[in-house]
Amino acid sequence: MIGYVAGALAAAAATFAGVHTMVPWSQLYGENFSGVKEGLKVLALTYDDGPNDPWTMKLLEVLDKHQVPATFFMLGKYVRERPEIARAVAEAGHAIGNHSYSHPNLIFASEAKLRQEMEETSVAIAEATGERPFLFRPPFGGRRPGTFKVVEEVKMFPVMWRVTCFDWAAKSHTQIVKHARRQIAGGEVVLMHDGGHLRMGEDRGFTVHATDELIREYKDKGYVFATVTEMMQMRPGVQMPFGAR
Ligand SMILES: [Zn+2]
Repeated sequence: MIGYVAGALAAAAATFAGVHTMVPWSQLYGENFSGVKEGLKVLALTYDDGPNDPWTMKLLEVLDKHQVPATFFMLGKYVRERPEIARAVAEAGHAIGNHSYSHPNLIFASEAKLRQEMEETSVAIAEATGERPFLFRPPFGGRRPGTFKVVEEVKMFPVMWRVTCFDWAAKSHTQIVKHARRQIAGGEVVLMHDGGHLRMGEDRGFTVHATDELIREYKDKGYVFATVTEMMQMRPGVQMPFGAR
């Protein structure tokens, strides 16, 4: 599935001006990544707070139907509970990121707590999928000075977003689509949720339905879809760390 969009991405990448060499990531992207140049017809759909039974698997069906890759920021506690779902996400070719173990707000967490949450989650993901994640998204998007420095010290990279779909509060799938449509100009990382940080089984039916409609609509408009890792490579000269996806 990864190779599916490679041609389109290469074409889009060619429109970037300037050549960057790699590392440190913060110099290339700023202190976090939330998308590429506005107007490029590429989107990175991202899903937080899974794995979540049964909604993550239902979402995989929709993504597979459209042959679209996405990025899943998983919670370590749920990966431990349902490692087979994490494995299915990886085997379908999607990118997996670290979203902490228990979803603490990092504004109030010590550095030691942050390191522990990240490490336990990376180990859980590696045991389930065979790969340690490279991407990290802070719970609630919360952080304080120094948070992202710690993330980089453990050789990960922080990912935020530019499009907020408010799917956790949506009353219908159309509300989610409208929030997305209002903010999309091209080039964005898009935030949605396949799970809920408070409990396994949180109903994400609206998100799954909205995903189906958004992909249909934006494919019709000529957009391509990429994982966050693929989107980060849409600059000439950028090479991701070995094995990152
Ligand atoms: Zn979250």
